[in-house]
Amino acid sequence: LEKPKRKLWGIDDVKETFPVRAADSHKGSHGKGLMIGGSAFMPGSIVMAARAALKSGLGLLSVATVREAIPAVSSFVQEATFLNVEEQEGWIAGQALEQASSYDGVLVGMGLGRRDGTEVLLQSLIDSVDGPLIVDADGLYLMKSLLPSLKNRKTPTILTPHPGEFAHLAGVSIEELLKSPFSYSRNFALEYGVHLILKGPSTIITSADGEQRVDVSGNAGLAKGGSGDVLSGILLGMVLQTESLMDAMSNSCVIHGCTADWLTQETHSETDLLASDVIEGLSRTFRTLS
Ligand code: AMP
Ligand code: MG
Repeated sequence: LEKPKRKLWGIDDVKETFPVRAADSHKGSHGKGLMIGGSAFMPGSIVMAARAALKSGLGLLSVATVREAIPAVSSFVQEATFLNVEEQEGWIAGQALEQASSYDGVLVGMGLGRRDGTEVLLQSLIDSVDGPLIVDADGLYLMKSLLPSLKNRKTPTILTPHPGEFAHLAGVSIEELLKSPFSYSRNFALEYGVHLILKGPSTIITSADGEQRVDVSGNAGLAKGGSGDVLSGILLGMVLQTESLMDAMSNSCVIHGCTADWLTQETHSETDLLASDVIEGLSRTFRTLS
């Protein structure tokens, strides 16, 4: 039986593939991203994802969230513009949906909640987003019944589950999944035509054609709420600025993990490290890359 290639991806690989910021570039050269998520009781996740995306060099960011959360979110994310997400007749709509196709890429899911009707939003995004569509967190939970429709997408879909979310999507137990995470990832990516980032102490990155890479950076300081939101934000930034999608995905994981490692070696501990510290620490990482 053919043994699939699995390349260990590290900071030196990131250095070789990291996009150069041209001296004459303008904000339009660095991607126009839309992020949809957050809810009245979970505004923090989209704040972190948005700040991480902006710190990762994204040119323009719009954040779509529920109207009640916009004042709180916008006070922490001054560089973004805002759109509202609304519940209408049992489904979620609003400006976010009307305008989704005018962005280069869309990230959906963080803090979205699992209300009835959110599937309608996800299905519309699956059908209408022209660029890459990244789905995380609650978006993944609600994605299960929509998986077959991902096969029809003409542009990339990237799913970023942790083992619990992936076990739910793949319909296996977490224990079973962790016995063969590479083959579950690969089979799933091939079956639905999606790119997959299976997160954990080691993260497995799988492209829609089955290529796999592994990222072993990061530490237990990341085992806290908010870490995944920061990774998603970095990913939106990198996907819209990197030529190869596989490089964008792998680089995001390594940038996230290495930032946490530098922080716990130099200024923080695994105990006190917060997801928001990782966002600030990105400055240090990006200085070594460009
Ligand atoms: P989430 O579960 O969605 O918040 O995502 C957690 C993030 O933190 C992922 O990027 C994981 O790879 C990372 N992470 C969590 N725990 C660890 C750990 N013990 N070692 C390294 N990375 C971790
Ligand atoms: Mg998460």
